[in-house]
Amino acid sequence: MIGSSKIMLEYDGWRVLLDLGLDFHPGQGLFRMGVSPRTAQALADRLRIGEAPAINHLFRAEAVKGTGVAGGSDGQTAVFITHAHLDHIGLTGWVDPAVPIYASPDTIALMAALHQVGDDVEGGYPQLQPIVEDARLAFGPFGVRRYAVDHDVVGASGYAVDTPDGVLAFTGDIRLHGRHPEASVAFARAVAGARALVIEGTTLSFGFTHAERTEFDVDRQFGKIVGETPGLVLMTVYPRNIERVQAFVTEAKIQGRQVVWPKPMASFFRVMGLSDILGFGEDVALEEIQSRPQHYGVDLAVDQIPLLLDLPLGPGSVFVHANGEPLGAFDPRWDLLQDWLKFRHTPFWPIGTGGHASPDDLNRLVEMIHPDIVFPLHSQAPDRLIPPPGTLRWLPQRGGRRFDLAGRELS
Ligand SMILES: [Zn+2]
Repeated sequence: MIGSSKIMLEYDGWRVLLDLGLDFHPGQGLFRMGVSPRTAQALADRLRIGEAPAINHLFRAEAVKGTGVAGGSDGQTAVFITHAHLDHIGLTGWVDPAVPIYASPDTIALMAALHQVGDDVEGGYPQLQPIVEDARLAFGPFGVRRYAVDHDVVGASGYAVDTPDGVLAFTGDIRLHGRHPEASVAFARAVAGARALVIEGTTLSFGFTHAERTEFDVDRQFGKIVGETPGLVLMTVYPRNIERVQAFVTEAKIQGRQVVWPKPMASFFRVMGLSDILGFGEDVALEEIQSRPQHYGVDLAVDQIPLLLDLPLGPGSVFVHANGEPLGAFDPRWDLLQDWLKFRHTPFWPIGTGGHASPDDLNRLVEMIHPDIVFPLHSQAPDRLIPPPGTLRWLPQRGGRRFDLAGRELS
């Protein structure tokens, strides 16, 4: 399990929280196979099984009733969100409205668009406030600065928090092989020499040794497949990666194809201001795709798999996996989709790239920042991050370890 990101900095009763993610582990955990937290008491259910942090004065009183956690704001807690992925933002719907939640303007726009199409986080639509880039926001004894970084969602940010004991930097999710590597490098330069660095380590989990494909390679590969496939192109793209969505629409257009999206995705893309967006069944009918499959690319929603029975498939068509759902082999629907594609004689072609820096790039980032202490997290194998000489490494443990910025563990 990669888990979710949540970091708390505390000084004199003041608290800065960096990210407030929802644990994401399809196929694992106590809530799976249709067993979900009970709607009216979902946060309480999560607190009881350890899927939400038992932090006082963060959540709404009614959401933590009966859990022993104090609800309501104490005026000394603020939340800062790195980006709009659920494992970083998914618990913000439960936050008390008097607790400020800060995020980048692009993250706020994306959450607002999702809200407009009825796709809210658990607990309701969070009230997010913009934090401008590279300007110190004072909060009690802390000063918080936000920096843009590259990840597979717009608005992704890292933070630097200055405290009376030194600066702590947090990468959020970060990479050097995306569309804006210069942003990640500029962040690393800005926080160089930090007392402490908290860095994600997702790819360490998989033992990757190769460099990651770039986003531009993915665009090119998609364009090539769209150009060379004689029949229908099926695909799955992660909707929050709107830069890739727009690039795919453009690549397809160059090759004389139109991409047709599931209706809710099409509505979301239009609210986000994307162009040439067509919705399945509203702008393009099934019959039209059946009669001219070579003119279309169809994004298949994972809950619409039986549609494969109606689409014109077989040799000459292809299914392109570009980091959409199901996200990976860890999702039980991955094998299910493979079975359906085999049944329809349609080849499966993964062309995506991840949102997370390769192990080599993580080392590059740590070397550039060269903190006194590094905390690798968001990983199944944080011990694979080897710090450079002079940097101390602390490994996370379930249950919330606490440290001071001299690297001493607190009881
Ligand atoms: Zn992410």
